[in-house]
Amino acid sequence: MPCTVQGATLVGVDAIPVGVEVDLLRRLPAVVVVGLPAPSVRESADRVRSAILGAGYEFPKQRVVISLSPADLRKDGTGFDLPIAIGILAAAGRVPEDRAREYLMVGELSLGGELRPVRGALAFADLAKKMGMRGILVPERCAHEAALMEGIEVRAAPHLAAVVEFLCGRRDLPPRSETIAPGPTSSMDLKDVCGQIHARLALEVAAAGGHNLLFEGPPGCGKSMLASRLPSILPPLTIEEALECTRIQSVAGLRSPEGGLASNRPFRAPHHSISLAGLVGGATLRPGEVSLAHHGVLFLDEFPEFPRNIREALRAPMEDRQLVISRAEGRVCFPARFMLVAASNPCPCGYLGHPSRPCVCSPTLRERYRGRLSGPLIDRIDLRVQLHPTSPHELLQDIHGESSTCVRKRVVEARDRQRQRYGGLISSNAELPAEQVLNACDSHPLALALLQKHLEDGAYSARVGRRLLKVARTLADLEGADRVGLGHVRMAIDLRSDVEEQSCAF
Ligand SMILES: [Zn+2]
Repeated sequence: MPCTVQGATLVGVDAIPVGVEVDLLRRLPAVVVVGLPAPSVRESADRVRSAILGAGYEFPKQRVVISLSPADLRKDGTGFDLPIAIGILAAAGRVPEDRAREYLMVGELSLGGELRPVRGALAFADLAKKMGMRGILVPERCAHEAALMEGIEVRAAPHLAAVVEFLCGRRDLPPRSETIAPGPTSSMDLKDVCGQIHARLALEVAAAGGHNLLFEGPPGCGKSMLASRLPSILPPLTIEEALECTRIQSVAGLRSPEGGLASNRPFRAPHHSISLAGLVGGATLRPGEVSLAHHGVLFLDEFPEFPRNIREALRAPMEDRQLVISRAEGRVCFPARFMLVAASNPCPCGYLGHPSRPCVCSPTLRERYRGRLSGPLIDRIDLRVQLHPTSPHELLQDIHGESSTCVRKRVVEARDRQRQRYGGLISSNAELPAEQVLNACDSHPLALALLQKHLEDGAYSARVGRRLLKVARTLADLEGADRVGLGHVRMAIDLRSDVEEQSCAF
């Protein structure tokens, strides 16, 4: 009689159930795996044979047929070792099948039978809970992560023999639980930044309203330093957000299984040589940088150096806050709710407008470089700030601004106002749909008149006008004002046109 146990595979950031059916046939001994196994799953047959022998059990001297279902889903990863081994032992009558059926199993086996950790333990635990399984059986090192999922029994074992003994009722594997509390937060602080008052304001506004941001300035003026401190002033991760971040990092293999819950908002800074698959994910259906930056910040330094196709590929996830990849296996959805911070030099050599160093670029080169800072993607960046090298006065006087804790307090208050206004469906002003902008941004007639004048002059398109209102709304929220005033719109225009005006002046 064939025996079935429950395994699973990762597709995107989700785990998908896979039935592992094992039958023993009275034919020449061999192991056959069917049901679209990837090479890593095909190799599992050899590992499992050694592991079963290594754990002290007999491997059946028959033909072992392993069928993975659904048959049309490609199965990848090494997590099938454990369900295949238990399936074979159940078919051979060494493990009670009804006990084995109660648990979802994942784990890689060494040739000696030790259980090794796999990617995505949290996603597997979530699946087991959704399927209504009694529990999940994982390698010892995955126990911390799997136990972050509440409401599911997590049992962990160091060795195949321990799993077999547990299923036979001869040994207990105590259920694991984990306190869900965020760990220590990053030590990066905004007070480390010297001077740059205007850029600090833009960073605060960006954090308060979830707006995208562009920094332009010569090398070494602190663009990366400022951007990397954005997560420290954003509201702390909620438990749900932290669980999502942990799950994505685990599926991508970027997290130590013992790491516990993610405590900081992600900050991803890919180099401009990144591939399209690396940015948006998809090659092996693993999450790309846009998903790794989910609930955090994607920082693109030297933005004009990123190839055009990469810059264009960011548009869809920025609009939809998710990324859908269509593959032969079906559609896979990756979460991608991130804030974009781009940084650029004023010209290829970086010294255009520098107080002491001359620019060596030709006008054509400069123009081509600036040209890459236009287009539909840049239109979606509402705050554009020019940075200047820190003056000797600021450096020598050691002039530092507020700490991240002070700024974060204002940001959290502004975000609370937004949440109250939008009823929890929209989390920030930047996410406000176009048709709701006018209503939500209760504006003073003078403020609207100023905006109207700019629109009539042709300085801004209607879309940009709406985006300006959203930034003005954030400025009002930071002040605790109910209405958007003339000053807020003026400041929003100033924060958007800083880069363009400055560069025209050169
Ligand atoms: Zn130059």
